[in-house]
Amino acid sequence: MAQRTFSIIKPDAVRDGHAAAILADIEKAGFKIVTIRKQSISNAQAQGFYYVHKERPFFGELCSFMSSGPIFLMVLEKDNAIADLRKLMGATNPANAEEGTIRKKYAKSIGENAIHGSDAEDTAKFELGYWFAGYELI
Ligand code: ATP
Ligand code: MG
Repeated sequence: MAQRTFSIIKPDAVRDGHAAAILADIEKAGFKIVTIRKQSISNAQAQGFYYVHKERPFFGELCSFMSSGPIFLMVLEKDNAIADLRKLMGATNPANAEEGTIRKKYAKSIGENAIHGSDAEDTAKFELGYWFAGYELI
């Protein structure tokens, strides 16, 4: 059954001009782009989004990075969207990412890794609602 997931094209990939190529990979993999918005976010917005990581040593660095330039926020839909997007993204550290994955192709490091994707149904629900109003998701 069609499932929705939340994704971000991160500031490194936007800055380097990879956004369109990443969107093409996502569409080629069978995802429908339900909604998409380019914007810059504040450090406080990043902190709220990555709240689950607040005790991790890289939290400050992560929030500064995510608020360092424009990003694309998007909602994607397909059967098994959450797991399939994680597969298409590749491992968090691009050094460990499989050939052909978005992080293998476009990510620079474990911190600046091109794309985010929700990791479970409950996090997808939280993340969708964090960035988009209900009327944007019809
Ligand atoms: P994301 O949540 O962005 O989709 P992920 O689920 O693969 O990535 P998480 O463990 O949730 O990885 O970490 C969230 C983000 O924090 C990573 O994508 C990366 O940008 C950053 N991060 C994770 N580990 C490190 C680290 N050791 N050093 C620096 N940044 C890190
Ligand atoms: Mg994660």
